[in-house]
Amino acid sequence: MAKYDPVVVVGAGPVGLCLALALAQQEVAVILIEAMSDDNFLDQVPRAGTNHPATLELYDDIGLYRRLEPRGIVAPLFHYWDREKSELIAEFDHSVLKADTRFPFALQCERIKIVEEALAMAKANPLVTVLMGTSFTGFDQDEDGVTAFVENEAGDKDRLRGRYIVSAEGARSIVRKECDIAFEGFTYPDRTLNIEVAYDFKKHGYTDRNYISDPEEWSNLFHWKGPPERWRVHFPTKPDEDPDALTAPEALQARLQRFLPTGKEFEIVGCNLYAVHQRVAARFHRGRAILAGDSAHVNSPIGGMGLNSGVHDAFNLADRLAAIWRGEGDNSLLGRYERQRRHIAVQHTQQQTIRNKKLLAEKDPAVRRRNHDELRRQASDPQLARKFLLRSSLIESLREAARIP
Ligand SMILES: Cc1cc2nc3c(=O)[nH]c(=O)nc-3n(C[C@H](O)[C@H](O)[C@H](O)COP(=O)(O)OP(=O)(O)OC[C@H]3O[C@@H](n4cnc5c(N)ncnc54)[C@H](O)[C@@H]3O)c2cc1C
Repeated sequence: MAKYDPVVVVGAGPVGLCLALALAQQEVAVILIEAMSDDNFLDQVPRAGTNHPATLELYDDIGLYRRLEPRGIVAPLFHYWDREKSELIAEFDHSVLKADTRFPFALQCERIKIVEEALAMAKANPLVTVLMGTSFTGFDQDEDGVTAFVENEAGDKDRLRGRYIVSAEGARSIVRKECDIAFEGFTYPDRTLNIEVAYDFKKHGYTDRNYISDPEEWSNLFHWKGPPERWRVHFPTKPDEDPDALTAPEALQARLQRFLPTGKEFEIVGCNLYAVHQRVAARFHRGRAILAGDSAHVNSPIGGMGLNSGVHDAFNLADRLAAIWRGEGDNSLLGRYERQRRHIAVQHTQQQTIRNKKLLAEKDPAVRRRNHDELRRQASDPQLARKFLLRSSLIESLREAARIP
């Protein structure tokens, strides 16, 4: 049985779905609003895909992990490469984290598979009312609760009442804008080009996750489970390059041949161009309206931290809201959510992703050499490797957040 009135959650992305499932697990009812309908929900671009150990533990807590593992690749290793020299700089092995986590590996499992599985779980949960094909258009709040305004695909308007509203709508959050909360930070002038390829890069020594530094054209290379098997390569572009010219089939082939000259055409199965933002909302809640995931913070995907840190928001927030439902505290618990998660967004996610991009794109040969020597040193010493991996796998950020009162 649900306890009292529901939480209205906007957006059935990974953050909204994890929040809904974690709240339902603590007997809090949820109304989950998603603009996409059942007919087009699985047509989304794959996007995020690296799930770090700290996130796998949280998925496991709501029964999601066992549905994802068969659809993903268990990836204990990741690589740093120097493209200029075609040389492996460092291999990090998550097995040094065996004492820190029950998941000493990343799971390569794309966002689209995560939302497919989590949506099926949400629909089967009697405490979650899922409204697909329903667009959120705005809201009001008063002393007792919130009223969300929605519209279905036929244009019928409705109002939904709840005790709190959580924006898990992604970066363009209507709630954030209506609350007049600044999205502080910057947008890189260049866009990132993502190419999906059917080709076995492993035969060239790559592992499932590769970060590749180059003074002219850094890249990332990731492996996704089939069928059919897929690899994703990210490249930087120049700010004024024409999108059509960048994504023309011959331009994509030429870029891939420069990256790995095979002499044979690559089988390209898709591509997209996206802008990269580094922004954090000035506040994570105003009264009963709360931001989580991309609506609260966005960052470069290098290091795979956007989806992961958003999912961490969801679980933190579920605990705060469930405590309010149980009568263990009031709205001030949301202040703790904001202090903990905003601190991590600013001090960890932003700083680390900006550093990750600088490391890969560095042009100065002396600085590159120093950076690469440092990576080698850290990867070859188990204690330093553990420290490095605690940070990159977001275990350290969860521990640090928990210490913030
Ligand atoms: C190319 C690319 C690669 C990435 N790779 C990684 C990676 O490897 N690792 C990583 O951690 N992160 C990665 N990210 C970032 C990651 O995709 C996001 O951080 C993550 O999807 C955010 O989840 P979310 O649930 O907050 O928002 P979203 O995933 O954006 O979901 C928002 C949901 O809200 C719905 N919605 C929006 N507006 C409304 C409305 N008005 N009414 C109703 N519903 C609405 C949308 O339809 C959507 O379903 C990548 C991003 C990109 C672009």
